[in-house]
Amino acid sequence: MLEQLNNLPKLKKIIKIMQGLIFKTLLNRFYFFIKLAVVFVFMLFASELNAQNKLKTVVIDAGHGGRDPGAVGAKSLEKDIALAIALKLGHYIETLIPDVEIIYTRKTDEFVQLKERAEIANRNKADLMISIHANSVKTSTVYGTSTYVMGLGKSDDNLFVALQENSALRFEENVKERYNEFKGDTMPSHIINSLIQTKNLEYSLVFAKLIQDQFRTRVGRKDLGIRQDNLVVLWYTTMPSVLVETGFISNSKEERYLMSAQGQDFLASAIFRAFRDYKNKYDTGNLAFKTGKVVKYNPVDIVFHVQIRSSVKPINLKSKEFKGLLGVKELRYGGRYNYIVGHEYEMSKVLIKQKQVRAKIPDAYIVATKNGKIISVSEAKKIILEN
Ligand SMILES: [Zn+2]
Repeated sequence: MLEQLNNLPKLKKIIKIMQGLIFKTLLNRFYFFIKLAVVFVFMLFASELNAQNKLKTVVIDAGHGGRDPGAVGAKSLEKDIALAIALKLGHYIETLIPDVEIIYTRKTDEFVQLKERAEIANRNKADLMISIHANSVKTSTVYGTSTYVMGLGKSDDNLFVALQENSALRFEENVKERYNEFKGDTMPSHIINSLIQTKNLEYSLVFAKLIQDQFRTRVGRKDLGIRQDNLVVLWYTTMPSVLVETGFISNSKEERYLMSAQGQDFLASAIFRAFRDYKNKYDTGNLAFKTGKVVKYNPVDIVFHVQIRSSVKPINLKSKEFKGLLGVKELRYGGRYNYIVGHEYEMSKVLIKQKQVRAKIPDAYIVATKNGKIISVSEAKKIILEN
């Protein structure tokens, strides 16, 4: 007992150490659970983040409809072709990628306002919008496919109504009030967030390239490239969106193709494959996308150049006669060797180019080519105006 009493301080010490150990163990356990909880929350967050990055909802928008026929061909209406391809595309996605939700802006021959189409996509928080159309110009020889992405440039009232795919507005009421903000410098609020807008445009360009690649390589359609324009239906959407021009109903051969069940199947399956590829990239976070480049062109393939020299004998392109101008090209016509610079699709742009060139070569003048062949400038202007 005495011995024990003597050992009391020792005992107290031991108890203290043991208490400390228990406390430490408990604390360690506590930390362990905290860590576990943090990992758990993080995993939850990560899976949520991952789920957010999956392409879950797509809006398929068949252009025009109801009282708005769209382009009018000899035998067909754009609205019917657009709806047929849109439904076929939806069917492919539904069957082959069933976890994607498909929302149609219309499934029947009905009129839907342009802004409402975009709002359907916005309301449903769609990850992608595909608008399907067919094209038409006055020159019946023009054919091919193109895909539009949203333009970021300024627009004015003229452009607003001039663009063919905005022409559906003619069938709407109170257009001025409802589309008031549709002018380049007074952007709708969602566009002000330029980071999101840039990302959406980048993604749209990726998808546009996949579509055009499919059209060209798998379906054998003429590739008229990716275009950028201020189209209402793309303008108001808050997600990546494209407008596909599946062909020209003003060209009789292409109209037949667009009207045929097989042609519609081929076009829809091409857009489907592009969609599948895009979704795979999107879902795996493969952001190293190869984006499509916007190619500017006018559908009638007319280009303006500045001619700097004409000669009966060929001249070396590096000759001092060209005053160090870059990109000099030789064009043979009228039995002569002609030398040109510049490659512009608009008269206003080639006039600027001419001004620059004239600083070095004062008598430089404007020439025009159609499909690479020389035509008169007045004829070129006339063709562009007619289309
Ligand atoms: Zn259209």
